[in-house]
Amino acid sequence: MITEGLGMPGKPEPDYSGKRVLVVGAARSGIASAEFLLARGAHVVLTDVKTEEELAQPLAALRDFARASGELVLETGGHRPESFRSCDLVVVSPGVPLAHPCFDESRRAGVPILAEVELASRHLKGKILGITGSNGKTTTATLADALLRGAGFRSHAAGNIGDALIRLVDASKPEDIYVVELSSFQLEGIERLRPHIASILNLTPDHLDRYRTFADYAGAKQRIFMNQTAEDFAVLNADDPRTASLAAQVAAAPVLFSRQREVERGVFVRAGRMVYRDGTGESDLFATDAVRLRGTHNLENVLAAATMVLLAGAAPESLAETVLSFSGVEHRLEWVAEIRGVQFFNDSKATNVDAAAKSLEAFPRNIILIAGGRDKGGDFAPLRPLVAERVKQLIVVGEAAGKIREALSDLVETRQAADLPEAVRMAGRRAEPGDVVLLAPACASFDMFQNYEHRGRVFKEAVRKLVTN
Ligand code: ADP
Repeated sequence: MITEGLGMPGKPEPDYSGKRVLVVGAARSGIASAEFLLARGAHVVLTDVKTEEELAQPLAALRDFARASGELVLETGGHRPESFRSCDLVVVSPGVPLAHPCFDESRRAGVPILAEVELASRHLKGKILGITGSNGKTTTATLADALLRGAGFRSHAAGNIGDALIRLVDASKPEDIYVVELSSFQLEGIERLRPHIASILNLTPDHLDRYRTFADYAGAKQRIFMNQTAEDFAVLNADDPRTASLAAQVAAAPVLFSRQREVERGVFVRAGRMVYRDGTGESDLFATDAVRLRGTHNLENVLAAATMVLLAGAAPESLAETVLSFSGVEHRLEWVAEIRGVQFFNDSKATNVDAAAKSLEAFPRNIILIAGGRDKGGDFAPLRPLVAERVKQLIVVGEAAGKIREALSDLVETRQAADLPEAVRMAGRRAEPGDVVLLAPACASFDMFQNYEHRGRVFKEAVRKLVTN
């Protein structure tokens, strides 16, 4: 069988030559997987629900590649069940849920189904730092990568940021470190992927539209630890009871991070400074004031990133300089502008209720909150205390507008806007010097936008227009 012995030490490189491989999802990582397999002589079928016109640009480059080096069939605008049955291997892109009924065809036919990261990890030389959790993955991964580089390591961020992991295989070296953000969908498609250092940052209800229960969702996340051994590390958030309790269940050595208390082994805050305990002694890292990112949630992300890179061997004294210069990632509580004394922040990536709550926690009062979009099945009631305390006006937009209004409008002046630019104009008219206008949708973006980046850009554009109006 094709998966046997792939990438195992001492075993020969697996032979894809002449094998039929179905790659599901024709975005960045699917295209990279197709190239990887074509270059090794596989017959690749690449399938996507999008039409060829929608996918045109990246596919053109792949076609050129295929002309030179192999056999490529495209199945766009939907999936053919037959293709899921009649292949030797299925490789799945990160955004595709394995619950899709087409995969049942493969399962019934006994065809192995692997996430792109699983395939990549079987060939990759170097260590993997794996990061999952409901929120904060990209921020933590970006910072961990920067900290490792600052400490002199050859580090690469892969996944959501940077390249698809499979694209990095050919150039990989044993001394490399790969910081990989892993979603629950990707983790469902791993078999042997074993991060040397793995973290679940937090666990809160998200994607309940795609998982039956919270336990199913948490179970998928925990797979990040399943192949680890006592030589590896499991980094857990001591302040999040759901993840902290995993310390007793993991095979790896548990290492904690905490904003709230001192931990025996890991990174914590004491008297305004971050401190690392490695099990034998203590090192002072830097003042929490050095962190430029807003919000206590970002402090947790910094604690997590610091813990992981210290375990990877970064010198404690090397971290301060990078932390000081790290200003965050676009669309994550990103400062946009100050206009007539009003601060505008873009947290378009706050696509669930918990992330929106963290966003509100970053500002003590006088918030004009713009929320709404496609409802992900979450409950908006957990926002009530924060809205009552900190929000002076709520502007709702998109499909979830009615549901949010129902959950919160008894607490605060609430208005509905037809679209995001109108919401920004309303906020601009209402805001007084000292206020914060915050886009923290608590919802997905797909009702009105291509994705959260698109929503964030539309928001920023609308804010810029306020200057000229
Ligand atoms: P992910 O990659 O997990 O989606 P990001 O770093 O892109 O995480 O941040 C997504 C959103 O979640 C941000 O907009 C921010 O408001 C919120 N967030 C970031 N870190 C945390 C955290 N540690 N806990 C809760 N919410 C967070």
